[in-house]
Amino acid sequence: MDSSNCIQGLFATDALLPTGWASDVSISFDSEGIISDVREGDRDSGYRVASGPVIPGMINLHSHAFQRSITGKTQSFSGTEDDFWSWREAMYRSTSEIGPKELERMAYRLYADMVRNGYTTVCEFHYLHHAGDGIPYSNRAEMSLAIVRAAEQAGIRLTLLPVLYCHGGFRNEPLSSHQRRFGLDVNEYLRLLEQLRKEVPETVLGYAPHSLRAVDNDSLAMMLEHRRKSAHDRAPVHIHIAEQTAEVTQCLKSHRARPVEYLYGIAEPDATWCLIHATQTTPTEKERMARSNACVGLCPTTEADLGDGFFDLPDFLSSGGTFGIGSDSNVCVSPVEELRLLEYTQRLSLRRRNTSGDTADSGVGTVRYLQALEGGRRASGQSVGRIEAGYRADFAVLEPDSFTRSDESPDVILNAHVFSGSSLSVRETVIGGFPSTLQGSAH
Ligand SMILES: [Zn+2]
Repeated sequence: MDSSNCIQGLFATDALLPTGWASDVSISFDSEGIISDVREGDRDSGYRVASGPVIPGMINLHSHAFQRSITGKTQSFSGTEDDFWSWREAMYRSTSEIGPKELERMAYRLYADMVRNGYTTVCEFHYLHHAGDGIPYSNRAEMSLAIVRAAEQAGIRLTLLPVLYCHGGFRNEPLSSHQRRFGLDVNEYLRLLEQLRKEVPETVLGYAPHSLRAVDNDSLAMMLEHRRKSAHDRAPVHIHIAEQTAEVTQCLKSHRARPVEYLYGIAEPDATWCLIHATQTTPTEKERMARSNACVGLCPTTEADLGDGFFDLPDFLSSGGTFGIGSDSNVCVSPVEELRLLEYTQRLSLRRRNTSGDTADSGVGTVRYLQALEGGRRASGQSVGRIEAGYRADFAVLEPDSFTRSDESPDVILNAHVFSGSSLSVRETVIGGFPSTLQGSAH
């Protein structure tokens, strides 16, 4: 990026701050794209005027870029037993044609789409490490670096989560032929992490044990010990935790405990952890996750697509839980579609509209958007998701008159965006102080 083009600030008639909506807000940022000052009621900054309400860009806390390639290909009536596991086989088969070039191209197009939709950070849960035959590339980081380049080209902020994937099941079964592309033992994994730290020092890296079925206790312990002793002891840790009922059954059989219960017995998840798809969890497990401050990563459109079930959000929120949203299989890359589906499944289930008993002044869309920002912020391990000094100048500027009159309140405009919007209701995305040039370009 050419720093001479860096704008010094943005003036928002309406901006969504961590405390809620504020008027006449001058947002200053430095040459690194970090917010240096936020002033309410300041009309004299002379900054460029945003063309609509300004909200923090959303953090996509869970993406598998390569799965974008099967969007549309898995929607056939393939059999009465078609479920997550049969989808997974189709997904595995699709990876055979994907090398570094294909991954980079695919991820770039995907990330560009995310930016157009108002995501400004993506956490890529990356496990496609080796060539199609399972043989490692001569540069073990080849595929990870393809992801880094794709994110740079799209201008999206990245938290890269190289994944540790050791086994084919809870009893340390060997990897299937399709899973060999993902396989690393813990020592190979830690070498990959160290290599990435040297080669792309600017990239934020986290730790990602794939799941309790793919990582044994000793490997998890070694990974966490490495983290504890490193200069990155607060780096985010992401794990798939309990997406499927069959996973819970297998965990009970192997470990005599449900996945969340088991994880808390062998590790100490805290606010730096993100538990992806805590779909199959009991109220006790939800309370435990909430008490530990771990973020729950919800991916409603993928969870719906795969018939996973849905997360009981009111129960979790009433225990003080934190959630964020992710696009996961990338069947959908709109943050508002994730929030909309999340909210609607709660209403359908409870048969009422105010599902969490909130009495906030702001609308449901605004409240859920702020909640998802907080979860995403924690999961990313970055200073993102807030219009506040010290945070990255990453915003989405909303189209003020997509659905409503442009003189409606910003809260009405954001709620229209959450419940009716798309990329078309995002007028501009700003990342690190730079307006993205992707808006309006071919999708
Ligand atoms: Zn996933």
